Amino acid sequence: MNEAPALIETRALVKAYDLLVVLRKLDLHIQRGEFVALLGPNGSGKSTLLKLLSGLTHPTSGTILIGGWELPGEAAAVRSQIGMVSHKTLLYENLTARENLQFFARLYNLANSNERIDALLKQVGLSKRGDSLVRTFSRGMQQRLSIARALLHAPDVLFFDEPYTGLDPDAATTLDDLLIQAQRDGHTIIMTTHELERAARLASRVLILSRGTVGYDAPASNLTASQLAAAYADLTHVAVGS
Ligand code: ADP
Ligand code: MG
Repeated sequence: MNEAPALIETRALVKAYDLLVVLRKLDLHIQRGEFVALLGPNGSGKSTLLKLLSGLTHPTSGTILIGGWELPGEAAAVRSQIGMVSHKTLLYENLTARENLQFFARLYNLANSNERIDALLKQVGLSKRGDSLVRTFSRGMQQRLSIARALLHAPDVLFFDEPYTGLDPDAATTLDDLLIQAQRDGHTIIMTTHELERAARLASRVLILSRGTVGYDAPASNLTASQLAAAYADLTHVAVGS
């Protein structure tokens, strides 16, 4: 079982902001094709971990390897393998959906980008709105366009930082389907979320960050939402004030 090298690996990863130690010697192994839900209370370091793994911030100490490339030294190679969707959509409101994707395609030096952009707009259900300005889009539509942006350069790995925040129930269901499809398409996914029920249902593995380390790590295949809620309460209760 342990023979395949992990696609995402950290060894003794430490991240501190001045005196605040957010991650304490985190060891993580994520295999290709896994869909990891990353849970934890506010401030537990979920966003920090995704930023570290995507090279947007540097570790205080420890090692990060993505597809065998080491951060921060090989950040360009790592970025080419990663797509990130966060609360900040990174979209230009005064450009159309298509113009936004064309802009990022140029950044990535993609050839034949118009065909790829058409296919992605279709995949995220925005074919009919490709020529509308992004500022006329609902939060759910902006979210879907950010997913298309994250998929543009066909990365192996997708990071989603609290993607359900601010979505209405319909938009959240659409996002469920996009995530399921992304995993079927072979992407390796790490998603931070507070939605325990979705984590148990969608992910293949659930991690809970607590006190700077992984306090819980379990396959999600037979995990019910209530079992996960109990584990979460246990762990985060213990963490209070200690
Ligand atoms: P989460 O995403 O789990 O809510 P974060 O990774 O955003 O947690 O933050 C973890 C801790 O690090 C918090 O206490 C937060 O205030 C702090 N933090 C995050 N980013 C910075 C930063 N750039 N400078 C200083 N402190 C930060
Ligand atoms: Mg966060």
